Amino acid sequence: MNIGIDIDGVIADQAKGVLQVINKAYGTCYTIDMWDSWIYASDIVGSVSLLLKMMEEAWQLGYVKPVEFDIAATIKRIKKIGRVSIISKRTYGSHVYVVQALQDWGIKYDNLILLSGDEEKLNYPIDILIDDHPTVDHPFYETRIPILLRDQPWNQGIKAGQYPRLTHITRIFSLIEAIPLLKEYKRCQTIPQRLVV
Ligand SMILES: [Mg+2]
Repeated sequence: MNIGIDIDGVIADQAKGVLQVINKAYGTCYTIDMWDSWIYASDIVGSVSLLLKMMEEAWQLGYVKPVEFDIAATIKRIKKIGRVSIISKRTYGSHVYVVQALQDWGIKYDNLILLSGDEEKLNYPIDILIDDHPTVDHPFYETRIPILLRDQPWNQGIKAGQYPRLTHITRIFSLIEAIPLLKEYKRCQTIPQRLVV
């Protein structure tokens, strides 16, 4: 079983890191709880390209930290269930800092797939994906790849029954919650549906 794990919002608290950059630049006090959509963040700085640059800066300055305690140990446990493909869509400028951070945090994986442009995570041979930000109008909702949705302020809009194609999605509140679900999926090829509304 090949388990895809996204980086930003699942392994790394990039949002908190970039808000640190934004707050320093503008003298503001934005917090992660206010980040209820990605449009919100690009609105603050005025453009998507500037936001992406600030995200790179957050990684470069070491502001981005693991999203939860002992994440390396959790991923080590996930690696016992299946192959771990760390998979993330991101700008080229962040690659070197992200790879270094994963190493510094002691995260072990089988594959590291960094995508850009219009490449899509679910075009890779993944059996199940842990992600925080599936795009609701993306064709991957037509696939049958289950998604474990890592709960974050910006994905609260995804509700049970809201998207008819979104039939294989389960909300989790920490990466460690994925472990029993991954074991169940490996054994039964199914996961319980759980979207908190
Ligand atoms: Mg993400």
